[in-house]
Amino acid sequence: MLAMEYRGPRRVRAVQKPMPEIKHPQDAIVRVLRTCICGSDLHLYNGNVPDTRVGSTFGHEFVGEIVEVGKEVTKVKVGDRVIVPFNIACGECHFCRQGMFGNCHESNTEATAVGAIFGYSHTAGGFDGGQAEYARVPYANVGPTIIPPDMDLDDAVLLTDVTPTGYQAAEMAGIQTGDTVVVFGAGPIGIMAARCAWLFGAGRVIIIDKEDYRLEFARGYSYCEAYNYREMDDPVVFIKKITDWMGADVCIDAVGAEAQGNALQTITGRKLLLQAGSATALHWAINSVKKGGVVSIVGVYGPTDNLVPIGNVLNKGLTVRANQASVKRLLPRLIDHVQNGILNPKGLITHRIPLEEVADGYRMFSAKLDECIKTVLIPPT
Ligand code: NAD
Ligand code: ZN
Repeated sequence: MLAMEYRGPRRVRAVQKPMPEIKHPQDAIVRVLRTCICGSDLHLYNGNVPDTRVGSTFGHEFVGEIVEVGKEVTKVKVGDRVIVPFNIACGECHFCRQGMFGNCHESNTEATAVGAIFGYSHTAGGFDGGQAEYARVPYANVGPTIIPPDMDLDDAVLLTDVTPTGYQAAEMAGIQTGDTVVVFGAGPIGIMAARCAWLFGAGRVIIIDKEDYRLEFARGYSYCEAYNYREMDDPVVFIKKITDWMGADVCIDAVGAEAQGNALQTITGRKLLLQAGSATALHWAINSVKKGGVVSIVGVYGPTDNLVPIGNVLNKGLTVRANQASVKRLLPRLIDHVQNGILNPKGLITHRIPLEEVADGYRMFSAKLDECIKTVLIPPT
């Protein structure tokens, strides 16, 4: 089968690989119909996630048709079209029972807090991902969720990660009616978080990025103010100034760890004293939220990154919440929101490219070329 393969930092290609096989009675094999490249894949692509092995296949955002099931699979059958949440979760452990499907205790044997994730290095379980014609899906009685017959596959594939992650960013923030919410990052996750912040009752939604075309896209939501931090002397002062010097009620970090050198490159010539590779957006979020406010982090960091200015968190009395999205928990309500037209995830898709051209897809998404927001890969039929 055709599959994406990692060859080393910033080197990926499409290759022929053996078909995945059922290894456990609760596995299913899915023929992938749509799969996406995510900002999380860029951490792998840039070589920033420990134990990302050459030869592995990325891809934690995919939907497809079940073509084979293990003998203990009862919840889905051959021929079903399913949304596959990016978290691999057993459904029965202490955490899964509380709806913390992103923190499953059983799915990942590595000594990390995170449950397993498709195509996300051996730190997150070592499972091959869905940027391929076929994928093996463990715990098939838990994750895979039937795609409603009238749902567009482009909407369905954005329910595997982007929509639940944006929604959970707003949910974790505990937004109160009328709140001012600042979202750092106008990628798919940040834009969806901004949309969901409004859904949760925010009175004002402000989004910050450096890519003008993404800011312009965000302004398409009439309630969204969008600003380029490259045009500011100091984003923290800027946000304070436009919030009556109080700061935002809520700040959402939808950026995460930046590629080494990115921070330096983006602030050259500015007054900001930040080191290359430091978590710029996270610092801005903590420093521009009001006293007693909430910082909600969905941007991804390395397991042991130690980047929080904890003294500011303490002195300001902040609440900081962070997690991998719990996709399975959120799917029922998000499927409803899509079907009722409240959320329009597929509106984020700017590029649809054949899986054969996966290397071009990564190059484009990584460098933010051709005004790309979300890229869908289409396996051969
Ligand atoms: P993306 O690369 O498309 O978007 C990131 C955006 O952040 C870019 O537009 C970039 O210009 C902008 N940016 C960079 N530095 C910034 C700064 N200092 N301030 C403001 N904006 C800045 O990625 P994406 O797909 O939108 O994902 C965003 C983050 O969310 C990534 O870290 C990804 O790993 C993470 N993520 C988390 C989860 C989860 O479950 N927690 C799920 C999916 C993605
Ligand atoms: Zn993703």
